[in-house]
Amino acid sequence: MTEIRNQLFINGHWTEARSSLRSALFNPATGERITTVPSGGREDARAAVEAAYAAFPAWSQTAAEERSVCLRRIYDLIVANADRLAEIMTLEQGKPVKEAKGEVLWGADFFLWYSEEAKRIYGEVIPSSRTTQRILVQRQPIGVVAAITPWNFPSSMITRKLAPALAAGCTAVLKPAPETPLSAIALFDIFQQAGLPAGVVNLVTGNALEIGQEFLENEKVRKISFTGSTAVGKYLLEQSAKQVKKVSLELGGHAPFIVFPDADLDAAAEGLLYNKFQNNGQTCICANRVFVHASVQETFTAKFLEKVKQVTVGNGMNDVNVGPLIHERALAKVDNHVKDAVAKGAKVMAGGFRLMDGEYAQGCYYAPTVLTDVTADMDIFREETFGPVAPFIPFRTEDEVIRMANDTPYGLAAYFYTTDLATTMRVSDRLEYGMIGINESALGYVQAPFGGIKQSGMGREGGRHGVDDFLEYKYLNVNF
Ligand code: NAP
Repeated sequence: MTEIRNQLFINGHWTEARSSLRSALFNPATGERITTVPSGGREDARAAVEAAYAAFPAWSQTAAEERSVCLRRIYDLIVANADRLAEIMTLEQGKPVKEAKGEVLWGADFFLWYSEEAKRIYGEVIPSSRTTQRILVQRQPIGVVAAITPWNFPSSMITRKLAPALAAGCTAVLKPAPETPLSAIALFDIFQQAGLPAGVVNLVTGNALEIGQEFLENEKVRKISFTGSTAVGKYLLEQSAKQVKKVSLELGGHAPFIVFPDADLDAAAEGLLYNKFQNNGQTCICANRVFVHASVQETFTAKFLEKVKQVTVGNGMNDVNVGPLIHERALAKVDNHVKDAVAKGAKVMAGGFRLMDGEYAQGCYYAPTVLTDVTADMDIFREETFGPVAPFIPFRTEDEVIRMANDTPYGLAAYFYTTDLATTMRVSDRLEYGMIGINESALGYVQAPFGGIKQSGMGREGGRHGVDDFLEYKYLNVNF
């Protein structure tokens, strides 16, 4: 195993939790215990917030150029350590090591991008009402940020929050997911090596309820940035109202993937394969309902099935396309969605079962699955599956597919394939989603504003929009 430090990082020091308790961490590919990590609690979170609060005045007043250099150093270090970071991620999260390295490098790109953006946080001069007056608008960092991240992208969800926060001049406390603390710890090791001043970034692993409560009740925390489920996001938003904290939420999705009759079917099948099986279907933006025009259903399904047959499943440390699911709960949800759909009339065209034999015996493996004849009364049509299941639903008209695609409280990502310009423009206008892939099934580009509408969240991460969420406006009315 790669040598990794596993402690809390508070005020520039590695430390145990106040309770001295630690909890075990398991490898989802093998069921083996990897190590233990500190079970931080409320007092640890408070100490971390205090450290971030104490570090804020100096960090927020650092010259933008200086912050930029720091961020660039972090980028260089992540890139130099990418292989090691990828192995750590595969060990605790399960995704194939090649895919893990892709995530590490994509995550690093946020530091590169925001090292540049740090220098471009411009203000405004607004035409005033008198010649002896100037109206100036400054943008200032909001203060201490509490960041809470999920396990499905253990590295990039952290960098996508911390890079813009630091660029803006904020200081931060991170609570990573309990399933993937080692990727967070490895990143903090890099932050330390890069020479970030003590207290600028702090890490607390452990009890979500206690740490979360401290974030919510401590007046020194001015912003909560959360990526995770809609249920937890709603709770954090509701509780943040008590102190009117700023909140950014990147929540669940239920993406439609629409194949119009004039689509390039090979490109659509290839796009769907990548989109559906990346991270074993455990992504907030992966297709959860595949709408295929009835006239091309048979051809498209056959093309897709041909590709699915080639997908290899196994321990991510080996040369496979897909690893295990994160844990038994995740596997049970996938299996329940499939069983419910089949009981209500869906047909299983591939997979549809847990993989149990041989190397699969100790891990959480599920066969890549394709269902056809899926209907609106099935759970899979309504809920995020978060697993390797592609449910196909036929449609006949544009109006019908738009109605079905929008028939969900979620509004994160949607995809469609067509070669017709008029369809492209009409359908883009009518889909109620924050991000739309058109003849493209990847959406995570560092320069683009990632985020959802409706119950998929608020705020944007990435691009120049990503830094806005960490800034306040201050208007100066200057008279002379
Ligand atoms: P989750 O259960 O909501 O957990 C996310 C994080 O929140 C974990 O660190 C969790 O810690 C913590 N948490 C839970 N309750 C909390 C509380 N009361 N106070 C503070 N923190 C709390 O979500 P998940 O199952 O890990 O992640 C999957 C979900 O994330 C999916 O719905 C997916 O769509 C969404 N997601 C969205 C995006 C996006 O950009 N929109 C990206 C990735 C994932 P504990 O586990 O210890 O409770």
